[in-house]
Amino acid sequence: MSVIDTINSNQGASFSFEVLPPIKGNGTGGLFSTIDKLREFNPRYINITTHRSEYVYKDLGNGLMQRQRVRRRPGTIAIAAAIQNKYNIPVVPHIVCSGNNREDLEYMLLDLQFLGISDLLVLRGDKAKDESSFKPTGDGPVHATDLIDQINRFNDGFFFDGTPIKVPGTPFQYGVACYPEKHEEAANLEADMQVLKKKEEMGAQYAITQLFYDNKKYFDFVEKAKAIGINIPIIPGIKPLNKLTQLTVIPKTFHCDLPEALYKEASQCKTDEEVYQVGIEWTVQQCRELLENGAPSLHFYTANAVDSVCEIAKQLY
Ligand code: FAD
Repeated sequence: MSVIDTINSNQGASFSFEVLPPIKGNGTGGLFSTIDKLREFNPRYINITTHRSEYVYKDLGNGLMQRQRVRRRPGTIAIAAAIQNKYNIPVVPHIVCSGNNREDLEYMLLDLQFLGISDLLVLRGDKAKDESSFKPTGDGPVHATDLIDQINRFNDGFFFDGTPIKVPGTPFQYGVACYPEKHEEAANLEADMQVLKKKEEMGAQYAITQLFYDNKKYFDFVEKAKAIGINIPIIPGIKPLNKLTQLTVIPKTFHCDLPEALYKEASQCKTDEEVYQVGIEWTVQQCRELLENGAPSLHFYTANAVDSVCEIAKQLY
């Protein structure tokens, strides 16, 4: 079943989650044990993130440094296929503009077709760590909408240079990202929401939100989206707090506010274990309220949070 069919099938509070490909050299054991733990909650689909290459400086020991390209977490497409084969659960690899030119992306689409993977999450992707703003790679797309355009042309039976595809495969279906608290680069929330509207008009079937802790922000966003004619399901992206350091790291990294009540409670904790408990309690309440008020399903970010997500899922499902 495709992701959008799952979301529309009205199966109640359906559960899905996002995983990261293993760190280069680590094998698949850790990732599969994560999926083994979360499988008991009947995930409807599993997203797999994509991580661009970064530049690091290697000390050559002779007083010189060498700039080297490193990809810490390669293999998104292969890992998606491995998960699909092993678990027979629909997979949603993230396909990003970041670090890819048009040809790279075209070959990814071909690989995905050969593997029988047709659900994607289409994103611009993060900027390189050593850049102050996002820069496309060669002729690569600048925005998620440019990548959507390439995918739509591929679905219509054309490579990016206009050559017809002799045997077009199953068309890709896709979701996109959205930001209840605005994307960090957007001039304002309204401008950012117009981008989401454009993505829907181009073919996005659903949107998954950036993580957030304040449900009011999500409900306001959904209401505003409806008011400007956005009709696709907007799926809450959820990540429980579980470490003291996250009180500063999460707002900075994901550009979301921690509600005063959550911050107050978590900042009184002395240990990560205490924050872990606060995170679970908050997230269970948060999820219940989301579902009671019409959220189409829940999508969990599991990076460094697998145990909390299991505990929360146990209480919800
Ligand atoms: P875009 O839609 O391109 O938007 C980026 C900015 O440009 C926004 O401010 C938007 O308002 C503006 N904009 C968009 N289109 C236009 C236009 N046509 N003209 C003018 N302005 C425009 N990152 C990764 O690297 N790998 C991942 O696997 C990954 N997974 C994610 C999953 C989810 C659910 C979410 C919410 C985010 C994820 N990210 C991931 C992070 C995401 O790539 C970043 O937030 C990125 O900075 C923006 O991606 P986007 O697709 O929203 O970009």
